[in-house]
Amino acid sequence: MVCIFCKIINKESPSDVVFEDETVLAFKNINPIAPVHILVIPKRHISSVVDIKIEDTDLMGKLIFVAKKLACDFGVSQTGYKILIRVGKDGGQEIQHIHLHLIGGKKLTSLS
Ligand code: 5GP
Ligand code: ZN
Repeated sequence: MVCIFCKIINKESPSDVVFEDETVLAFKNINPIAPVHILVIPKRHISSVVDIKIEDTDLMGKLIFVAKKLACDFGVSQTGYKILIRVGKDGGQEIQHIHLHLIGGKKLTSLS
């Protein structure tokens, strides 16, 4: 079964895309917890941080770079934001396709 984020990448499922290039896609979270809540994902399916290989490190760095750029574009660069990656069951990861949450636009206090 193809994962939901791969379907979004392949445009088989709708999403509100805010950034796209050959390796990375970013789209608005369907259930935002803050005024800015964007998911940044690699176009290549990697299930979890657990599965990152040494050759994936440039791609992981690029996800952070894209998040930084989007923080500027969405006006939260100066006020601050949170970048979050959940890993596995205890980390609260629901979708098994690596995604970086970019969350901002309000004061964020909780770490959990
Ligand atoms: P996780 O808990 O795995 O770190 O985060 C998954 C996130 O993906 C959740 O915040 C959820 O709201 C979001 N999400 C799940 N399915 C979809 C979808 O089909 N479209 C969009 N835009 N976001 C989704
Ligand atoms: Zn996938």
